[in-house]
Amino acid sequence: MNEPATHTIVVMGTIVTIQTASSDPKHSRQQDSAIERALAWFHHIEERCTRFNPQSEAMRLSNQSGVSLPVSPVLYEAVGFALEVAKASDGAFDPTLGLAMERLGFDREYSTGQTVHTDIEPTSAVSYRDVLLDPIRKTITLLRPLVLDLGAVAKGLAVDMAARELREFESFAINAGGDLYLGGCNPKGEPWTIGIRHPRHEDALIDSVVLSNRAVCTSGDYERTADDGKVHHILDPRTNAPEKSAASVTVIAQSTMLADALATAAFVLGPERGIPLLDRMGVDGLIVTPSLDRYETRGMSRDYRPGASPVL
Ligand code: FAD
Ligand code: MG
Repeated sequence: MNEPATHTIVVMGTIVTIQTASSDPKHSRQQDSAIERALAWFHHIEERCTRFNPQSEAMRLSNQSGVSLPVSPVLYEAVGFALEVAKASDGAFDPTLGLAMERLGFDREYSTGQTVHTDIEPTSAVSYRDVLLDPIRKTITLLRPLVLDLGAVAKGLAVDMAARELREFESFAINAGGDLYLGGCNPKGEPWTIGIRHPRHEDALIDSVVLSNRAVCTSGDYERTADDGKVHHILDPRTNAPEKSAASVTVIAQSTMLADALATAAFVLGPERGIPLLDRMGVDGLIVTPSLDRYETRGMSRDYRPGASPVL
């Protein structure tokens, strides 16, 4: 295996890194163009799905509630998937929290530094039930004035699209701010070993997993905060306040979008309802509570701990 090459961009308010084993020089042009296409997905999806740009497709929906608008395939996919997770989690996951997030102070566009102020007054409490999809016409209708927040799915979708561009390579890793997809084996030819950050000690790991051709995503209360660090970014949609029953949740799945969204959903549900959700959805995961108790699905230690045979 050749030496790894790393490519990094800043997008979606985070750092995205793609690592590939650098190929035979005669294939390097092919590899460069695959990496370019992979990175371009992040910009393509951001442009359409962000709530931080009033001109984005997602925000155009907000400005025309009650109207059925045809949307791009990526926005349709991200919203459709978010609604499925919302139903599966009985509303613990909810992609209509945009205004609540903005009002808590999650309102700064990362590349310009400018704050966004959406001029929409919700008529009453909104939820995922206020979003209607037409699968034939590929339209989305917001039944009430609301702002979509796709922060827990759009990054995962972009990682999956990027992974599709890179699948011809034996070895690649994509890391989008804690949402990872690991293709094939690491540059040493072994399955990837991924450390899971300790939620209360920045420089320590609480666990590690070994995997190949899988996504691993972590949602943590330490990752993003507003109001000088007092308010974290994962909300209970019933109260619009930060949820306190977990400190971090790590999910392993075949698709990054699924792992991304289910980590957020299980965070809101806490261990008692979160582990059964992960089981029902056929994925594995670990929930660490604020008192550092650990809860996990059966498959975590069976399939993903060092020494276990990774599921290929
Ligand atoms: P995850 O746990 O995967 O997701 C948590 C995020 O999901 C929250 O930040 C919130 O956005 C949303 N959320 C909170 N509670 C719930 C819930 N109950 N159900 C469903 N979703 C919930 N950040 C900036 O500060 N500025 C930007 O300009 C910016 N642009 C972005 C553009 C795009 C397209 C995307 C995808 C993200 C952008 N972000 C930006 C980051 C974004 O706001 C989220 O903070 C980030 O995506 C969280 O990812 P995570 O994996 O850390 O957390
Ligand atoms: Mg995530």
